[in-house]
Amino acid sequence: MKVIIAGAGLGGLCLAQGLKKAGIDFTVFEKDASFNSRTQGYRIRIDYAGQQSLAACLPADLYAAFENSAALPAPVYTMDTRMQALENKWVDQWIKDEREIPADLKADRHTLRRVLITRIEDQVVFDKDLTSYHVQPDQRIQCFFADGETITADLLVIANGAASALTGSCFPGTGLHDTGNVCIYGKVQWDEQRRQLLSPGTSVIFGENIAGIIDVMTFNRDLHTIVTPPEDYLYWALIGQRCSFGMQRDQSLRLSVAELQEAITQATSTFPAALDPLFSGAAVTASAIVPVRHSVQGRRAGQAPVTVMGDAIHTMSPAAGLGANTALRDAAALTAHLKKSIDGGLSLMSTLLNYEDQMLTYSAEAIAASKKGSALLYNSGE
Ligand SMILES: Cc1cc2nc3c(=O)[nH]c(=O)nc-3n(C[C@H](O)[C@H](O)[C@H](O)COP(=O)(O)OP(=O)(O)OC[C@H]3O[C@@H](n4cnc5c(N)ncnc54)[C@H](O)[C@@H]3O)c2cc1C
Repeated sequence: MKVIIAGAGLGGLCLAQGLKKAGIDFTVFEKDASFNSRTQGYRIRIDYAGQQSLAACLPADLYAAFENSAALPAPVYTMDTRMQALENKWVDQWIKDEREIPADLKADRHTLRRVLITRIEDQVVFDKDLTSYHVQPDQRIQCFFADGETITADLLVIANGAASALTGSCFPGTGLHDTGNVCIYGKVQWDEQRRQLLSPGTSVIFGENIAGIIDVMTFNRDLHTIVTPPEDYLYWALIGQRCSFGMQRDQSLRLSVAELQEAITQATSTFPAALDPLFSGAAVTASAIVPVRHSVQGRRAGQAPVTVMGDAIHTMSPAAGLGANTALRDAAALTAHLKKSIDGGLSLMSTLLNYEDQMLTYSAEAIAASKKGSALLYNSGE
């Protein structure tokens, strides 16, 4: 069997590793010009389900590289905007103390992607935008690319993230609900000045219609053989209603640097002034703004040998930290179903239906949990 994966994000690359381990032939096609052509975020929390999925898909030494390159574990603190401890605000999916097992691992996203592409570099093709597909009479799938090339495979896996233009053709009715809320995230150096401000760990600041999440990312530099983590840094994210950022509901998110800085200043205006160095100045060049959206999930139509995974079918608010974890879970589940079908002779279509039943159930639960998390964090009204 030859599998084409559209998208070299966390989900698509994890699936590729799973297929490699299972001895299934694949190629990943990625629209970005190169691995490093764009920053895809900073800190990413990998929960126990995500860790188990990575362990299932990766060879043992690469899984160890992921674990060893994660930031050092530390407690999570919840507080109000005066930095007074809050005991009654908690998102179910969060773990109180990362030093307990099983706890989340805080990965640097770029480093995790680097682990995920290790030893499959020659099977990941960049600058390759998969635009559409067609099912041939022999049930093989023809994939069309923006550069005019056509490549045929037995199975296409759509893993091209939120706002996928490919998902609708096999899962009609799939769409994105824009909640109108936004998230700005960025990173700054973990230097002496900032060390005076915060304890190592995760600080969650609850405002009126906004929350700030600040994560200290410090790494153990002695354990690395396969990947090298970045310099220590401080990751922050502000998530909330647009009004908290001084933005109109229908305002475009294509902001200039000055507008982005203004939105950050507005959003943090009720935070203690001592925290300003985290959010202002040079830091702003490393920040980005994204809309908070949820997938409206469609259902499969027809018998095309095409399936879908990750944000392409289950985009969700980052509030509960479940989006990537669910994409990794898809990778492990799809690998296991494909392997079982090859070993046991089940048809490809029955295999895809079994995977999709499972995936749609747990991902709908994850979307619901993320909405609940948004309501608690910033009165999202979603
Ligand atoms: C601020 C923030 C913080 C977050 N924190 C967490 C967290 O702590 N834990 C967590 O679990 N989740 C978190 N998430 C969610 C997480 O980032 C996503 O759920 C995850 O990246 C989805 O992975 P994916 O592989 O499905 O899609 P993506 O990572 O979006 O990858 C899709 C890839 O497909 C490529 N592509 C697009 N179109 C095409 C095409 N036509 N042809 C070929 N390639 C294409 C894209 O360039 C991209 O590389 C967070 C999100 C945000 C915004």
